Amino acid sequence: MMRFSARFATSALALGECPRWDRIEIAIAGRSNVGKSSLLNALAGAPNLARTSKTPGRTRTLNFFEVGESLALADLPGYGYAKMPQAEAKRIGAAMREYLARRENLAAIVILADARRGPGEEELELAAIARRRGLEMIVAATKCDKLKRSERAAAHKRFAPMRIEPVFCSATSGEGVEELRRRILAFRRDEVAPRRVQGARDGR
Ligand code: GDP
Repeated sequence: MMRFSARFATSALALGECPRWDRIEIAIAGRSNVGKSSLLNALAGAPNLARTSKTPGRTRTLNFFEVGESLALADLPGYGYAKMPQAEAKRIGAAMREYLARRENLAAIVILADARRGPGEEELELAAIARRRGLEMIVAATKCDKLKRSERAAAHKRFAPMRIEPVFCSATSGEGVEELRRRILAFRRDEVAPRRVQGARDGR
């Protein structure tokens, strides 16, 4: 198993509150209840990690986790929660879009969608934003343990509008977790072309 030590760093309500660091960020996005916290825990092998994101006050913020020396995960607030007041949902949507469109550290986005349900309008919009900006994209089909073998092909087809192969994964069975971990760790600074001169953070 590849090493994936993750540690909660900070949370932000808007772009201006995001941490000032050199870390390459990978955003994780999905509607609420898609299995994002469970998957984060499985990725990190730490049952408490994503509880941090479920702490009252942090369910509606962008939550940053340091991963190793050069990476960070940006856990975006779960959207599509029916009971959330509309004004709050709007604010969160705007903060997410601003982060995705303008955050300099951002290199990639992992878009989660339930394997049985496939992507909806929100996931397609996230993919469009990512493409517009040239972000790398990973699509994860969650809770795939709930699919029967015979349902896989149909599930696969539901993801076709994303125009990218989904990684079928399950926090319950562990399927796909190592593959996701591998793909995320591939963004470590020593594995991608340097984007800026080291030490550029001096003076900030
Ligand atoms: P979040 O709201 O996206 O963070 O979702 P959670 O991780 O809290 O999961 C939502 C619900 O789905 C919980 O009841 C979990 O136990 C369940 N769940 C999460 N991941 C899986 C999975 O891989 N397989 C199954 N069968 N259930 C899951």
